[in-house]
Amino acid sequence: MKNTKIEWCDATLNPVIGCKHGCPYCYAKSMNKRFGFIENWEDPQFFIERLRQLNTAYPKSVFMDSMSDIAFWKDEWIEKTFEVISRNPKNSYIFLSKDPAAIRKFIIFKNLTRRMADCVFFGITITNNSDLLKLDECEVDFVSLEPILSPVNISCFANHPEIKQIIIGAETGTRKDKIIPEKWWIDDIVRKAGSLQIKVFMKNSLKEIMGSDFRQDSLIWSK
Ligand code: SF4
Repeated sequence: MKNTKIEWCDATLNPVIGCKHGCPYCYAKSMNKRFGFIENWEDPQFFIERLRQLNTAYPKSVFMDSMSDIAFWKDEWIEKTFEVISRNPKNSYIFLSKDPAAIRKFIIFKNLTRRMADCVFFGITITNNSDLLKLDECEVDFVSLEPILSPVNISCFANHPEIKQIIIGAETGTRKDKIIPEKWWIDDIVRKAGSLQIKVFMKNSLKEIMGSDFRQDSLIWSK
């Protein structure tokens, strides 16, 4: 388990490294290229021994897949992970995916695991309006609008009362075609989220753009 610069959690664990999505802005792939965690980024690998670190002394919020997407976790990896989570319910476990089918599958595994406490949170990544259709295919606790690549009309969140939190972040890194969000994109989301009583947490990448309108509401997994 590693302390992290990701502002909305205490640590990352990453029992799986690698991803086949191929997003052009992928920071995790660059990290793997730099540090060589696995040989082939598109052939995800399971590091079962990392799960032992979930037996923490104090409660932590742990992002479980900052170096993968759960879409590519094998069933036995999911089973093993939830088995260990069920023995350590004091922590909050946060899973993020771009794939609604993966989230549906993980929720089934979570519900199958005996004595599973209510400590697991699922989120989906949405970067533009066309991604919003994914919300009709799964139930999530939060939505990650990161990197936000265009204006996103979240009015449809009214049909998804299960969404309690939005995280918004700008693309980081030095990619040639990097997209810098406009302030009004974020203002529009904040206004609509307010009317739906959804919490908004902006990542530090938005500080400069948002100025005095920068905000970080409390997180639903804070204990
Ligand atoms: S889903 Fe995440 S880990 Fe996978 S390629 Fe895209 S940014 Fe990278």
